[in-house]
Amino acid sequence: MDLSRQLRSHLELLKAAGVEYVPRGEPIRFAPRAAVEEPATADPAESKRIELAVLAKSIEGCSRCPELFATRTQTVFGVGPVNPEVCFVGEAPGADEDARGEPFVGRSGQLLDKIIAACGFKRGEVYICNTIKCRPPNNRTPTPTERDNCRGYFDQQIALVSPKYIVCLGATAAQNVLGTTTNISRLRGSVHKFGAIPVVCTFHPSYLLRDETKKKDCWDDMKMLLALMGRPVPGKAS
Ligand code: URA
Repeated sequence: MDLSRQLRSHLELLKAAGVEYVPRGEPIRFAPRAAVEEPATADPAESKRIELAVLAKSIEGCSRCPELFATRTQTVFGVGPVNPEVCFVGEAPGADEDARGEPFVGRSGQLLDKIIAACGFKRGEVYICNTIKCRPPNNRTPTPTERDNCRGYFDQQIALVSPKYIVCLGATAAQNVLGTTTNISRLRGSVHKFGAIPVVCTFHPSYLLRDETKKKDCWDDMKMLLALMGRPVPGKAS
């Protein structure tokens, strides 16, 4: 990673940790180029993994949302590789996720696993996270303030994960990611953008568990994603 990006990311982390002022130091004198040794690990993916781990650690003690801070077991950051093809984004952790520290491990997660498999991916090769990193009590919808408090973390996380495509699961995730109040039925069926990243929106797995008739719509959304990616629909003769 280049120095300016590293510095910017370091300052973002300090800001996220509540540091508001960094004293100006002595000007840095750089050694002549020939004298600088290349670091042994110049693997950009490894740098991203390290930066993600640092970001996750810096969020662990976050107390920006007093109610979530007081009631959560732990923050739930995200799982999966950097530079994945797809990142699935949910709303906020539920009870199982709060207990385990991993997104989508409860009943909704089991259905998400089936959706991921139906698309021809393995869970371990996609990235999974939520727009909000703490469980809201009784799984209530996160407030606009909570959403805004977590926004910077999410933006930094996605910048480091660098997925090729994003799938938003449910209205809250889609609205948080896209910064809109449009309802999920209207967000489905077209391709949106998060920065330069194409975004597809579908129903939340917990909604599909409550209304199985909507599973077909979700599958239509996943077929649209696969077409966008230029991937075959598994099980469909081409
Ligand atoms: N629902 C979500 O939106 N995210 C999870 O991690 C679990 C359930």
